[in-house]
Amino acid sequence: ADPYPSPTVTPPLVPSEVPSNALQSSPYYREVISKLTTVFGLRKFRPYQLEAIIETLSGRDVFVLMPTGGGKSLCYQLPAVCQGGKTKGVTLVVSPLLALMKDQVHSLMLKKIDVFLWNSEATYDEVTTRLRGTRKPSLVYITPEKLKESNSAQRILDELYRDNSLARFVIDEAHCISTWGQDFREAYRHLGTLRLKYPNVPIMALTATARKVTVADITERLNLRDCAFFTQSFNRPNLRYVITPKTRKWMESMMDFISSKHPNESGVIYCLGRDKCEEVAKKLNDNGFSAKHFHAGMSQADKDQTLDEWRNDEVHIIVATIAFGMGIDKADVRFVIHYSLPKSLDGYYQETGRAGRDGKPADCILYFLYKDFLTLRNMIERPDGNVPPSKETIERQTAAARAVLNYCLDISECRRVQLLHYFDEKFDKSQCARNCDNCDHPDPLLTLDSTKEAQDAVDLIENFQRRSELVTLTQCRDILRGANNAVIRNKNHDKDPHFGSARGRTSELLDQMLRKLCQLDVLVEQSIQQASGFHNEYVKLGPKAGDFKRNKKPLLIYCRPKPGKPPGKASKKQIAPKPISARRGTKGKHKAIEVDPIEPYEDDSPY
Ligand code: ADP
Ligand code: MG
Ligand code: ZN
Repeated sequence: ADPYPSPTVTPPLVPSEVPSNALQSSPYYREVISKLTTVFGLRKFRPYQLEAIIETLSGRDVFVLMPTGGGKSLCYQLPAVCQGGKTKGVTLVVSPLLALMKDQVHSLMLKKIDVFLWNSEATYDEVTTRLRGTRKPSLVYITPEKLKESNSAQRILDELYRDNSLARFVIDEAHCISTWGQDFREAYRHLGTLRLKYPNVPIMALTATARKVTVADITERLNLRDCAFFTQSFNRPNLRYVITPKTRKWMESMMDFISSKHPNESGVIYCLGRDKCEEVAKKLNDNGFSAKHFHAGMSQADKDQTLDEWRNDEVHIIVATIAFGMGIDKADVRFVIHYSLPKSLDGYYQETGRAGRDGKPADCILYFLYKDFLTLRNMIERPDGNVPPSKETIERQTAAARAVLNYCLDISECRRVQLLHYFDEKFDKSQCARNCDNCDHPDPLLTLDSTKEAQDAVDLIENFQRRSELVTLTQCRDILRGANNAVIRNKNHDKDPHFGSARGRTSELLDQMLRKLCQLDVLVEQSIQQASGFHNEYVKLGPKAGDFKRNKKPLLIYCRPKPGKPPGKASKKQIAPKPISARRGTKGKHKAIEVDPIEPYEDDSPY
């Protein structure tokens, strides 16, 4: 079955209005249909492939937006073998990865298509005979670096242009031209000159990045004109999206999951650092899984070997940084796991998108820890490199990280609705078919009025600020719920008038409430450097605090109480002990629990 059925939603960008009878009466239609079967051995087009092909054959600029695996290659490979287009000659394909090009060239050769891979291995003689001869290849693949840096490449392009032998330029993975995405490539920038130097050659841009800002950026940088946009739905119906808390036992729970649901199947685990990748891969191997790490610190040979072994199913699990990604086209990846927070929802979508390209069910699991957001934010503000990022970069990346945070924290809305909304696509949640954690949760979703706790929290923090004292979110929570722990005692927080004002509420609920206030900009977290050199996150009133207090705005929290438990109420075991001051008579002996047993896991070294 075709895993990409027709989109059920209106595409976000209006496709060119080409009614199907207009398609059929197009002078290019017959040849296109015939090449589909005779050359490519396919029976029918996926949504918008035919439209994109007809438009490029008629000489228009075309922008194709399709999710990974959607079938973008055909949109330029098929017109390349048609004789009848308005512009004739060579289709020049710019693609970022040599491995990707080699795969494509190989499969095109099997179809007896005349194709030329213009990389550094191509000799001068070869280039001359292939591109200056009379029988020119239908398709020429080239990297952006080669195109930019090689004088002979430019000379030959000039020649082809003069001879009217350039049918079109194809920019695959076009998002690499945009600094909005994470795959930005310096040499892609240069592609903007193609339109200026060869104004008569139509351009086709293709990408799986769906954000409108990125699309607009690409259009501008490539100097596209009167461009026809075609976009499929970005929904990936076979992917199951799940966000799960990262507890101390995350590794065990992950191994359980893999061995019960995906034994001996292919998967990817994304981690933030190189050390982490190696550590997790080792732990998996120690536990009998077949895993290897993959990161930018490895030699090319090691990377190639690891990739080969994974492709050939000699290794099942790759534990990787996001260096492992673009161009990975293994079809039967059954799970993608995020151990650390993705940097943006784009990134998350791309990374999870590597699962289930064969259309069969696959799992995308994100292990979420609030503290990972703070780690990520610190990395954005203070990256390791020597060049301090510009204010604009920091703001943009922080906004992207916050979008990921909000996504993880939202326990009510369908993941697909959230994710596709980010790509400006309206998605009908009933189409999810319970294939995400929020649609498929066994416990009912309740709303809980946390207005009083929220107002208390704002008061509490305002008091701290007035006294010029610093306080963390965790401390606020513990003060509100009247916790008895070392920090509370040492800092005399149990004397605070708000101490215990939310006693009986769970830590979880109070955390959720405080984060919600951060989300709403009522509170902000600020990273402040300690005398020790370490940075710590403290909470302060945010720009919306005054409004929140003045207007006594209600604050509703979603929660999923376990059956039989009142929502948001702590169980007996969870209720913090009586205020310490009330028990201070007992000869200073604190038999109370030092560390709260339900203290959420907030330690970044899980094992
Ligand atoms: P993308 O570049 O969008 O990630 P590809 O062009 O690599 O996707 O195509 C993904 C897979 O879909 C390939 O195996 C390709 O052969 C297949 N495919 C593309 N178009 C069609 C079609 N019209 N019918 C059947 N299979 C198709
Ligand atoms: Mg592709
Ligand atoms: Zn859903």
